[in-house]
Amino acid sequence: MNDHRLSFCISGAGPIGLALALGLGQSGYQVKLLDQKSHIDKDILVDDHRMLALSHRTVEFFKRLGVWGNMLDYATAINSVHVSQKKCKVEVLMKASQHDLDHFGYLVPQGRVILALYEQVLAQEHIDLCLGSRIIPSADLSHGTVTIHQNNEKFTETFDWLIAAEGVNSILRNNFGIETFSRDYDQVAVIARATFEKPHQNTAYERFTEEGPLALLPVNEHEMAVVLVADSCESEKWKKASDLTYSAEILARIGARLGDITEVGERQVWPLTLMIPKKVVDGKLLLAGNSAHGLHPIAGQGLNLGIRDCEAIIDLFAVNQYPTESDLIAFNDVRRKDIVKTVGATDFLVNAFGVKGTLAQTARLLGLLGVKTLPFVRKKIATVGMGY
Ligand SMILES: Cc1cc2nc3c(=O)[nH]c(=O)nc-3n(C[C@H](O)[C@H](O)[C@H](O)COP(=O)(O)OP(=O)(O)OC[C@H]3O[C@@H](n4cnc5c(N)ncnc54)[C@H](O)[C@@H]3O)c2cc1C
Repeated sequence: MNDHRLSFCISGAGPIGLALALGLGQSGYQVKLLDQKSHIDKDILVDDHRMLALSHRTVEFFKRLGVWGNMLDYATAINSVHVSQKKCKVEVLMKASQHDLDHFGYLVPQGRVILALYEQVLAQEHIDLCLGSRIIPSADLSHGTVTIHQNNEKFTETFDWLIAAEGVNSILRNNFGIETFSRDYDQVAVIARATFEKPHQNTAYERFTEEGPLALLPVNEHEMAVVLVADSCESEKWKKASDLTYSAEILARIGARLGDITEVGERQVWPLTLMIPKKVVDGKLLLAGNSAHGLHPIAGQGLNLGIRDCEAIIDLFAVNQYPTESDLIAFNDVRRKDIVKTVGATDFLVNAFGVKGTLAQTARLLGLLGVKTLPFVRKKIATVGMGY
C-alpha cells in the first residue's frame, strides 16, 4: 500500500487560496500556501468594509470549513432581489420566501471573510503559510519543482500539485502557457457604502440605466453596498468626485424608492475585464478563483464561482487521491462549463441592458415581463443566483 500523502503548493492567499488550503488541509493533505504580501494585518482586515455577496451555496461551504460562525455576526441576509430598468414600467421582485427559503444569501464585509479564513488556516496543522514569498518562473514547474523566493532567500521543493490562486494576472498560469480569452469592458466599478433614509428591508437592487448598471446590496438596516458602473473614460472623474456628485448619480439611477442618501463612504474604482482560460488544468497545475476567470461584478458572482472551483478541487482529491487522466478531463470540462456559463450570463446581462434604442428597450421590456409572469423562469434565476 502506498502511504504517500499528496502535497500541494497554492500560490496566492486571497479568499480563494485560503479557502482551498483549508479544504485540502482538512482532508489531511500537506499544503504550502504562498503569498507575495509580507504580512496579513488583522486591523486592516477589520477596517475593510468592501462587501461581498455570498450565495447560499458559498455559505454552506463556509459552514463545512468551520468559518461561517466567525462571519455570521457581520452578515446581512438578502431576502429579496429587485430587478428593474430605468424608464421601464415592468419591475421584478423575487422573494426568498416564494422559494421556501429564509434568504438567497448574505452580504459580508470582505475583510471579515478573509479574517475568518486566515484564522482557521493558522489553526490548521497541515498548512504551512509562507508570506512574503513567490514562485520563480521556471521550466521545472511542469515537474512540480518550485523555487520559492522568500525574504531574500531561495529554496526549492517538489510538490504533487501546484494551484494558481493568484488573481487575474496569474504568473503561474502564464508560466504554463495557458492561453486566455479576455476582453476589457471599458468600464469601471465605483464602489462605496451609502446610507439611505428608508430601510432597505433586506432587498438587493439591480438597476439598469443608459448611463450604466447599478447594484445596491443590503447592509445592516439603512446602508447599502453600492456598485456603480461607469465608462472607463470617467475613471478619474469618479476617483475625485465629491460625496454630493456620487450620491446624486446613485439617486439619478435608482430614483426615490429608498429616499435620500444621508451619508456616503470612501469610494474605490475598479477596472473591469472578462477573462476565460482555455483550460483550468495543465499537467500538475490547477487554476482557481480569479486565476481561472474574470467577470463583471454587477451580479456579485466572482467569489461564488471561485468557491465552486474550490469545492470541485477538494472533491477531485477526496474521491480519488490520484486522479486518473479521465478524472482530470472530466474536472476540466465541468469547471470550464460552469465558468463559461457564469461569465457568459453576466456578460449577457451587461450587454443586453446596455444596448440603446427602441427595439432593444422593447426586447428588455418583454424579457422583464417574462421573468415577472413565468414562475419557472423566476425559480431558475433564483436557483442559479444561489449558486446551484
Ligand atoms: C468591485 C467588485 C465587487 C465584487 N463583488 C463581489 C460580490 O459581491 N460577490 C462575489 O462573489 N464576488 C465579488 N467580486 C469578485 C471577488 O472580489 C473576487 O472574485 C475574489 O476576490 C477573488 O479572490 P481570489 O482569491 O481568486 O483573488 P484575489 O483576491 O485577487 O487574491 C489573490 C492573492 O494572490 C496574491 N498573489 C498575486 N500574485 C502572486 C504571486 N505571483 N505570488 C504570490 N502571491 C500572489 C495576492 O497578493 C492576493 O493575496 C467583486 C469584485 C469587484 C472588483
